[in-house]
Amino acid sequence: MDQRAFRRTMRTLESRYPTDRWTVGMSVFEVLVSTILSQSTTVVNERRGLQDLRCRVGALTPERLADQPVEKIARAIWHAGLARQKAPRIRATAAAIRDRWGGHIERILALPTERARAELTALPGVGPKTADVVLAMAGRHPTFPVDTHIARIAHRWELTRHKDYESIRAALERWTPPDKRTTWHLAIIAHGRALCKARRPRCLECPVRRDCDWFRRTPSQRGRPRSRPRHAPTKG
Ligand code: SF4
Repeated sequence: MDQRAFRRTMRTLESRYPTDRWTVGMSVFEVLVSTILSQSTTVVNERRGLQDLRCRVGALTPERLADQPVEKIARAIWHAGLARQKAPRIRATAAAIRDRWGGHIERILALPTERARAELTALPGVGPKTADVVLAMAGRHPTFPVDTHIARIAHRWELTRHKDYESIRAALERWTPPDKRTTWHLAIIAHGRALCKARRPRCLECPVRRDCDWFRRTPSQRGRPRSRPRHAPTKG
């Protein structure tokens, strides 16, 4: 897919999927916790884990979470999965924000984008994807976070042959105007959940198939319409 086709495709997807700003009403720190919880689970289970954590701990602040026993956090986030790995990460990140930034993650987001990314990824348990989600969704920085849906679709569109996170992000940012990165990030995720699924994408219903390299080059793989979804959506 070339730049022209990419932009045409994205305009189509942008108009098809209403922008779902899932961070509305959340603090910056809650966006960070939510993104850690979202790893390898569905949206529903991530939301449930976040809600249970709020119920058990109260308002989520770095100070409060840093003071909680790891076991208590793990029990609270059980529905989000991988609780034994995520709980110590959340607690360690909360403690680092409390100790290094006086409990104000907003101070990181006030930095220039590259510096803010470096500071976020220096926090324990925060990788490039989590940092970019926080930068884009909570700080309106012009980054293009890459989750599993976006990585899959970028390869189907042959935006890059590389599989590492930074190459995919760079490929998407190259052709996406800075003020469109969050909107198009959300549009591709919505498309990945609705039609361009990992297994059996519903290509015959897809409004962008004429520009899709995967559709043109692998006719034997073309998906067929299905009556109902088999998998719950994931956040990445
Ligand atoms: S044509 Fe198929 S593979 Fe290509 S974007 Fe659409 S659903 Fe995905």
